[in-house]
Order: sequence, then C-alpha cells, then structure tokens
Amino acid sequence: MSRREVKSIVIIGGGTAGWLTAGILASRLRTRVLQKELTITLCESPNIPTVGVGEGTWPTMPSTLSSMGISETEFIRECDVSFKQGSKFVNWGSDKQQNYYYHPFEVPIGSLEGLLPEYWIHNTNQGSLSQLFTTQEQLCEHNIAPKAITHAEYAKAANYGYHLNAGKFAGFLQKHCVNKLGVQHVLSEVTDVNLSVSGDIQSVVLSEKGELSGDLFVDCTGFQSLLLGQTLGVKFKSVKHLLFADTALATQVQYPTANHAIKPYTQSTAQEAGWIWDIGLPSRRGVGHVFSSKYTDLTSAQDKLLKYIQETGGDDKSLEIRKINFEAGHREKFWHKNCVAVGLSAGFLEPLEASALVLVELSAMMIADQLPPTHGVMHIAQQRFNRTFHYRWGGLLIS
Ligand SMILES: Cc1cc2nc3c(=O)[nH]c(=O)nc-3n(C[C@H](O)[C@H](O)[C@H](O)COP(=O)(O)OP(=O)(O)OC[C@H]3O[C@@H](n4cnc5c(N)ncnc54)[C@H](O)[C@@H]3O)c2cc1C
Repeated sequence: MSRREVKSIVIIGGGTAGWLTAGILASRLRTRVLQKELTITLCESPNIPTVGVGEGTWPTMPSTLSSMGISETEFIRECDVSFKQGSKFVNWGSDKQQNYYYHPFEVPIGSLEGLLPEYWIHNTNQGSLSQLFTTQEQLCEHNIAPKAITHAEYAKAANYGYHLNAGKFAGFLQKHCVNKLGVQHVLSEVTDVNLSVSGDIQSVVLSEKGELSGDLFVDCTGFQSLLLGQTLGVKFKSVKHLLFADTALATQVQYPTANHAIKPYTQSTAQEAGWIWDIGLPSRRGVGHVFSSKYTDLTSAQDKLLKYIQETGGDDKSLEIRKINFEAGHREKFWHKNCVAVGLSAGFLEPLEASALVLVELSAMMIADQLPPTHGVMHIAQQRFNRTFHYRWGGLLIS
C-alpha cells in the first residue's frame, strides 16, 4: 500500500464547476493550504469557452458562498444577481383554471412534523401545497424579495437561492479563490495526459507551460470529460430513454424599461416538445427553450421561443440565440484511480430542476471531507464517493 501523501490537488477546467470546487476545497482545507502542506491548482484553457449557461441555483448556495468567506453584497453587485425563491411551473397540467403550480424553497409548514401530507390529500380542492402551507407563493406572485436591504448578509425572511450571470460568477470566484484562498491559477490548455504504471494520472502536459503533476486530479472540463472519460475511459451512461430533452436554445432578453420588476423565481413554461426557462437578472432576462429533437425541429423550437419572448413583453428582434446539444446521463463512476469528475464532466440530466450546481457543491464538499491522506487509501474515499453520487444522481432522476 502506497504511503505517498496526497499533497497536491489539480483541477482542470475554469467554468463554474472548476472555480466552485477550488473555492470549496480551499476554504474547507484552509489550514493545510496556509501551512503549505497542500496545494490547490486550477488550470484552464484560455481558448476553450465555458458552457456559459447555468443561471439558477438551489438554496444551498448562500451557505456555500458564506462558508467560502464571500461577501454576499459583493457577489450580488458583481455577478448581476437576483433572488430565486423557487420555480413556477406554468401549463404543465390540464387544469385551465389553475394553470401553474410552485415549487417553493421554503419548507411547507407542518411537513417536518409529518402533518402535512394527510391533511393535504383530503383538502386538495382548497389549493396547492405551496398555497396552503407556505407564504412564498404570495411573495413570488407579488415580486417581493425574500429579504430586506436591512437584513444582514445571508440573513433572510424566506428561504432563497440565486439567479446569476454564469460568466461573471466564474470570474468572481476566480478572483476570490486566487486572492483570498491561496488557489494557484494556470492559464494553459491540457494537450496530453501522462499515466503512471498503475494507471493513475501522473501529470498533464500543457500547451505553454510544461507539465503539471498532482496527487489528485479533479476533472472539470465540461461535456468533453477530458480526464475521467477520454483519458481513463470511464463510460458515459445515457438516460435519454428516460429524459428526452437533448437541445437548448438560449438567449438574453432586455427589459422594456430600466425599472422593470424582476421575478424572484424561475418560470418554467411547458411546450409541446419541452419547456422554456425564464430567469430574471437585474440587467436582463435569460430565456431558453429546452426540447427533444426527436419530437420537434429546430425551426419550430426557435419559433416557439420567439413567440414566448414576444408574448412576455420582450423584444424578439436581433436576438443572439445559442444552440447547445447535450445527452442526459452521467459517468458510470465519478471517481476512478486518482481522478474525480465534477460538473458537466460527471454528467448532466437536464436543467428543469436546476440541479447541476448543487451537485458541484456537494461533490466538492465530499472531496474535501474525505480527502485521503495517502494514495494507498484513496480507494476508500473513491468507493464512498461513487456510492454517494450514484445515489444522488439516481435520486434526481426519479424526483
Ligand atoms: C441549457 C443549460 C441550462 C443550464 N441551467 C442550469 C441551471 O439553471 N442551474 C444549474 O445548476 N445548472 C445549470 N446548467 C448546468 C451548468 O451550466 C453547469 O453545471 C455549470 O456551468 C458547470 O459547467 P462546467 O464548469 O462543468 O463546464 P464548462 O462551463 O464547460 O467549463 C469547462 C472548462 O474546462 C476548460 N477546459 C476544457 N478542456 C480543457 C483543456 N484541454 N485544457 C484546459 N482546460 C480545459 C474550459 O476552458 C472551461 O474553463 C445548465 C446547463 C445547460 C446546458
């Protein structure tokens, strides 16, 4: 059993997954980083763009950012942030009178005591779960924020996550990680990967700056899964037979007036072959149509998106629309040898429940908490991690 210590973590990829992972690891392992017992290095390509979407978080994000020592005020100012109090699902049912329901972030009153389900089952005609058991639907319907300007950072009157500008968020995290948490930053493209005789990753070859070696490698290279998928050959397990969506058309819509109301929830409106997300940031809306290419064509999907934008008061002229292809699924293993995948390189289901970033948060926390002291015991952390994340991805699939 190898007694070689785990003293360097190398993260490849500087999207939201890479920088969130770097920040969570560096803050949780701060003492070791400060005492120079452990180095955390993030290497990202200056040429390969990030996916550039992913604007809605779960309510786990405030405590994640707080634990990294981030000022909520700075984050809100720099990342074009608004509050998200849940999702409003519009036109998903057949009831024409009540054509929407909410998934609020506030825990419904009585649910922790187990009182709620039985009462509600016998009283469904009186309203939806969120109408009867939380006040959050009313806050959302009236565009009221979950906290006042006088609240302390991260304090709240109602539970919330965030809507944010994904590009600005990665840049903001980079600044915090490098300036405050001691993360080393390398701007270079990985062109090759060197393996040891045991099959572990020994080092990555960089386009400009030689080689970067490490004890543990975190693959945050996005859909291409450069280390875990391409290099170590861990297969992708498709779930497209369960989740049919495989394409997104994403765009940004300007508000008609400067002081237009900002919706404090994500609106998800059902369409014939998918659904449209509508996220209100302070400076613009992020709108996108997620659909299954098996059940509609690109032109019809784009027409539906433009019609939605027009009907919701947006200007549908001269929009820049990006097409993103994906396949729902995840790697058969998330941690193999000395490499663990986090973010899109681990997998992606589809964005209906905006569950990708919370998996990044949870993955990074578990890597930090279970970080093996030596290579010889890495298989223990690996088994625990794989068991936990098979359970989590499976849970998201059936929820
Ligand atoms: C349509 C859509 C909507 C989404 N909406 C949400 C949402 O609302 N909420 C949510 O939580 N998630 C959402 N997601 C998921 C979310 O966008 C991602 O989980 C998140 O952005 C993290 O991406 P990433 O960092 O894994 O990958 P990317 O952003 O693709 O970053 C990959 C990084 O790897 C680097 N890289 C690649 N190859 C190399 C190389 N050879 N050498 C060096 N560096 C390399 C790139 O330069 C880049 O920095 C959505 C995804 C899609 C497709």
